[in-house]
Amino acid sequence: MRPTDSSPGEHTRAVHPPAFDPPVQRPLGLPVYRTAAFAFADSEEYAEVLGGRRPGYSYSRVDNPTADAFARAVAALEGVGVDGEVAGQPFASGMAAISTVLLTLCRAGSEVVVQRAVYGGTYGVLEHVLARFGVRAVYVDATDVVAVRAATGPATALLYVETLANPTMAVADLPALAEVAQDAGVPLVVDSTFASPAVCRPLEHGADLVVHSATKYLGGHSDVTGGLVVGPPDLLARVRDARLDLGGSLAPDEAWALHRGLATLPLRVARQCASAAVLAGALAADRRVARVDYPGLPTHPGHATAARLFDADEHGTRFGAVLTVTPHGGADAGRAWCDRMRLAEVATSLGGVRTKVSHVASTTHRQMDAATLAAAGIDAGAVRVSVGLEDPADLLADLTAALPDGG
Ligand SMILES: *Cc1c(COP(=O)(O)O)cnc(C)c1O
Repeated sequence: MRPTDSSPGEHTRAVHPPAFDPPVQRPLGLPVYRTAAFAFADSEEYAEVLGGRRPGYSYSRVDNPTADAFARAVAALEGVGVDGEVAGQPFASGMAAISTVLLTLCRAGSEVVVQRAVYGGTYGVLEHVLARFGVRAVYVDATDVVAVRAATGPATALLYVETLANPTMAVADLPALAEVAQDAGVPLVVDSTFASPAVCRPLEHGADLVVHSATKYLGGHSDVTGGLVVGPPDLLARVRDARLDLGGSLAPDEAWALHRGLATLPLRVARQCASAAVLAGALAADRRVARVDYPGLPTHPGHATAARLFDADEHGTRFGAVLTVTPHGGADAGRAWCDRMRLAEVATSLGGVRTKVSHVASTTHRQMDAATLAAAGIDAGAVRVSVGLEDPADLLADLTAALPDGG
């Protein structure tokens, strides 16, 4: 229906309401730019923005203001104490970030020197995807810096480690590894998901790129998936180019939720680390427990390195909030322990507000047979505990009440 002959028709009016003009005032809350595309004043501006000769947004797979705001916020947290500018690139998941970084830095014939106990998805990309394109992964014990150096060679494209390795919580000696990478003339890429910038900032210790599964501590509530790469602008420009083509870009709604989570990151992580230390100490002293892997325990092989590299607060060093606990009695005891807990959830993932447990051998490391598990230093009964925000006394009561008596 046309109200008058000269006014647009109802479909045109529906599709072209009065334009949204961003207000002059700066909003305190982060606006969600839920748009796939942006309009230009004219074709010249369109061409200039697409060509990178003028700043501006064109298409949300390329860049989105909400996703950019999240990436800048994480870059600011990771970039403390670093000389020079630190940039960030947002991704749809941790694996999108990791695979894009690997594809940015590798070519056919490249070798990736990577820690043996690497995250399963990263192992999958290396073995099931990149291997088909002539990229070879060279696995090393990243805590053995001499072995890491020996593994580098002319074909090495990057050195890849995790700040805290799953599930042994091995601690990477980042300054020593950075020296090896520098001598080999390759970037040191660090997956710092288990640490978060509230525990350790690898760029301060010589890393060239930091990758995150933002799904874990950065988001912090187990309700959003995202990833991130942080590092110097020149390297990040190459990562961004690869992201545009590969397409693992972060959606604006997810970026908003992740950005909101960041505000409480230090509060959450400080408390989770303090609670993890309480649990680790008490469980290590329990006769029903065979072993506790937690860098905060003086017996852990990474204790001194963590004390040197990780942040401290009034509770002492933040040694992370994930511990691996092995009750006596083997695989059955590990599973039974998880299943008898009432507060802790049997669930995948980590870093959220609720405590989560997983029986390592049958879940996160199910691809490994008994011999491979043993070689990696993982017991059949090991249980990974991601400590949440519950009262530590309640958690300790839950975990100890559920412990099997066997052994
Ligand atoms: C979860 C995780 C990833 C993958 O992140 P997604 O967001 O699940 O894609 C990578 N590295 C580590 C250490 C992780 O824990």
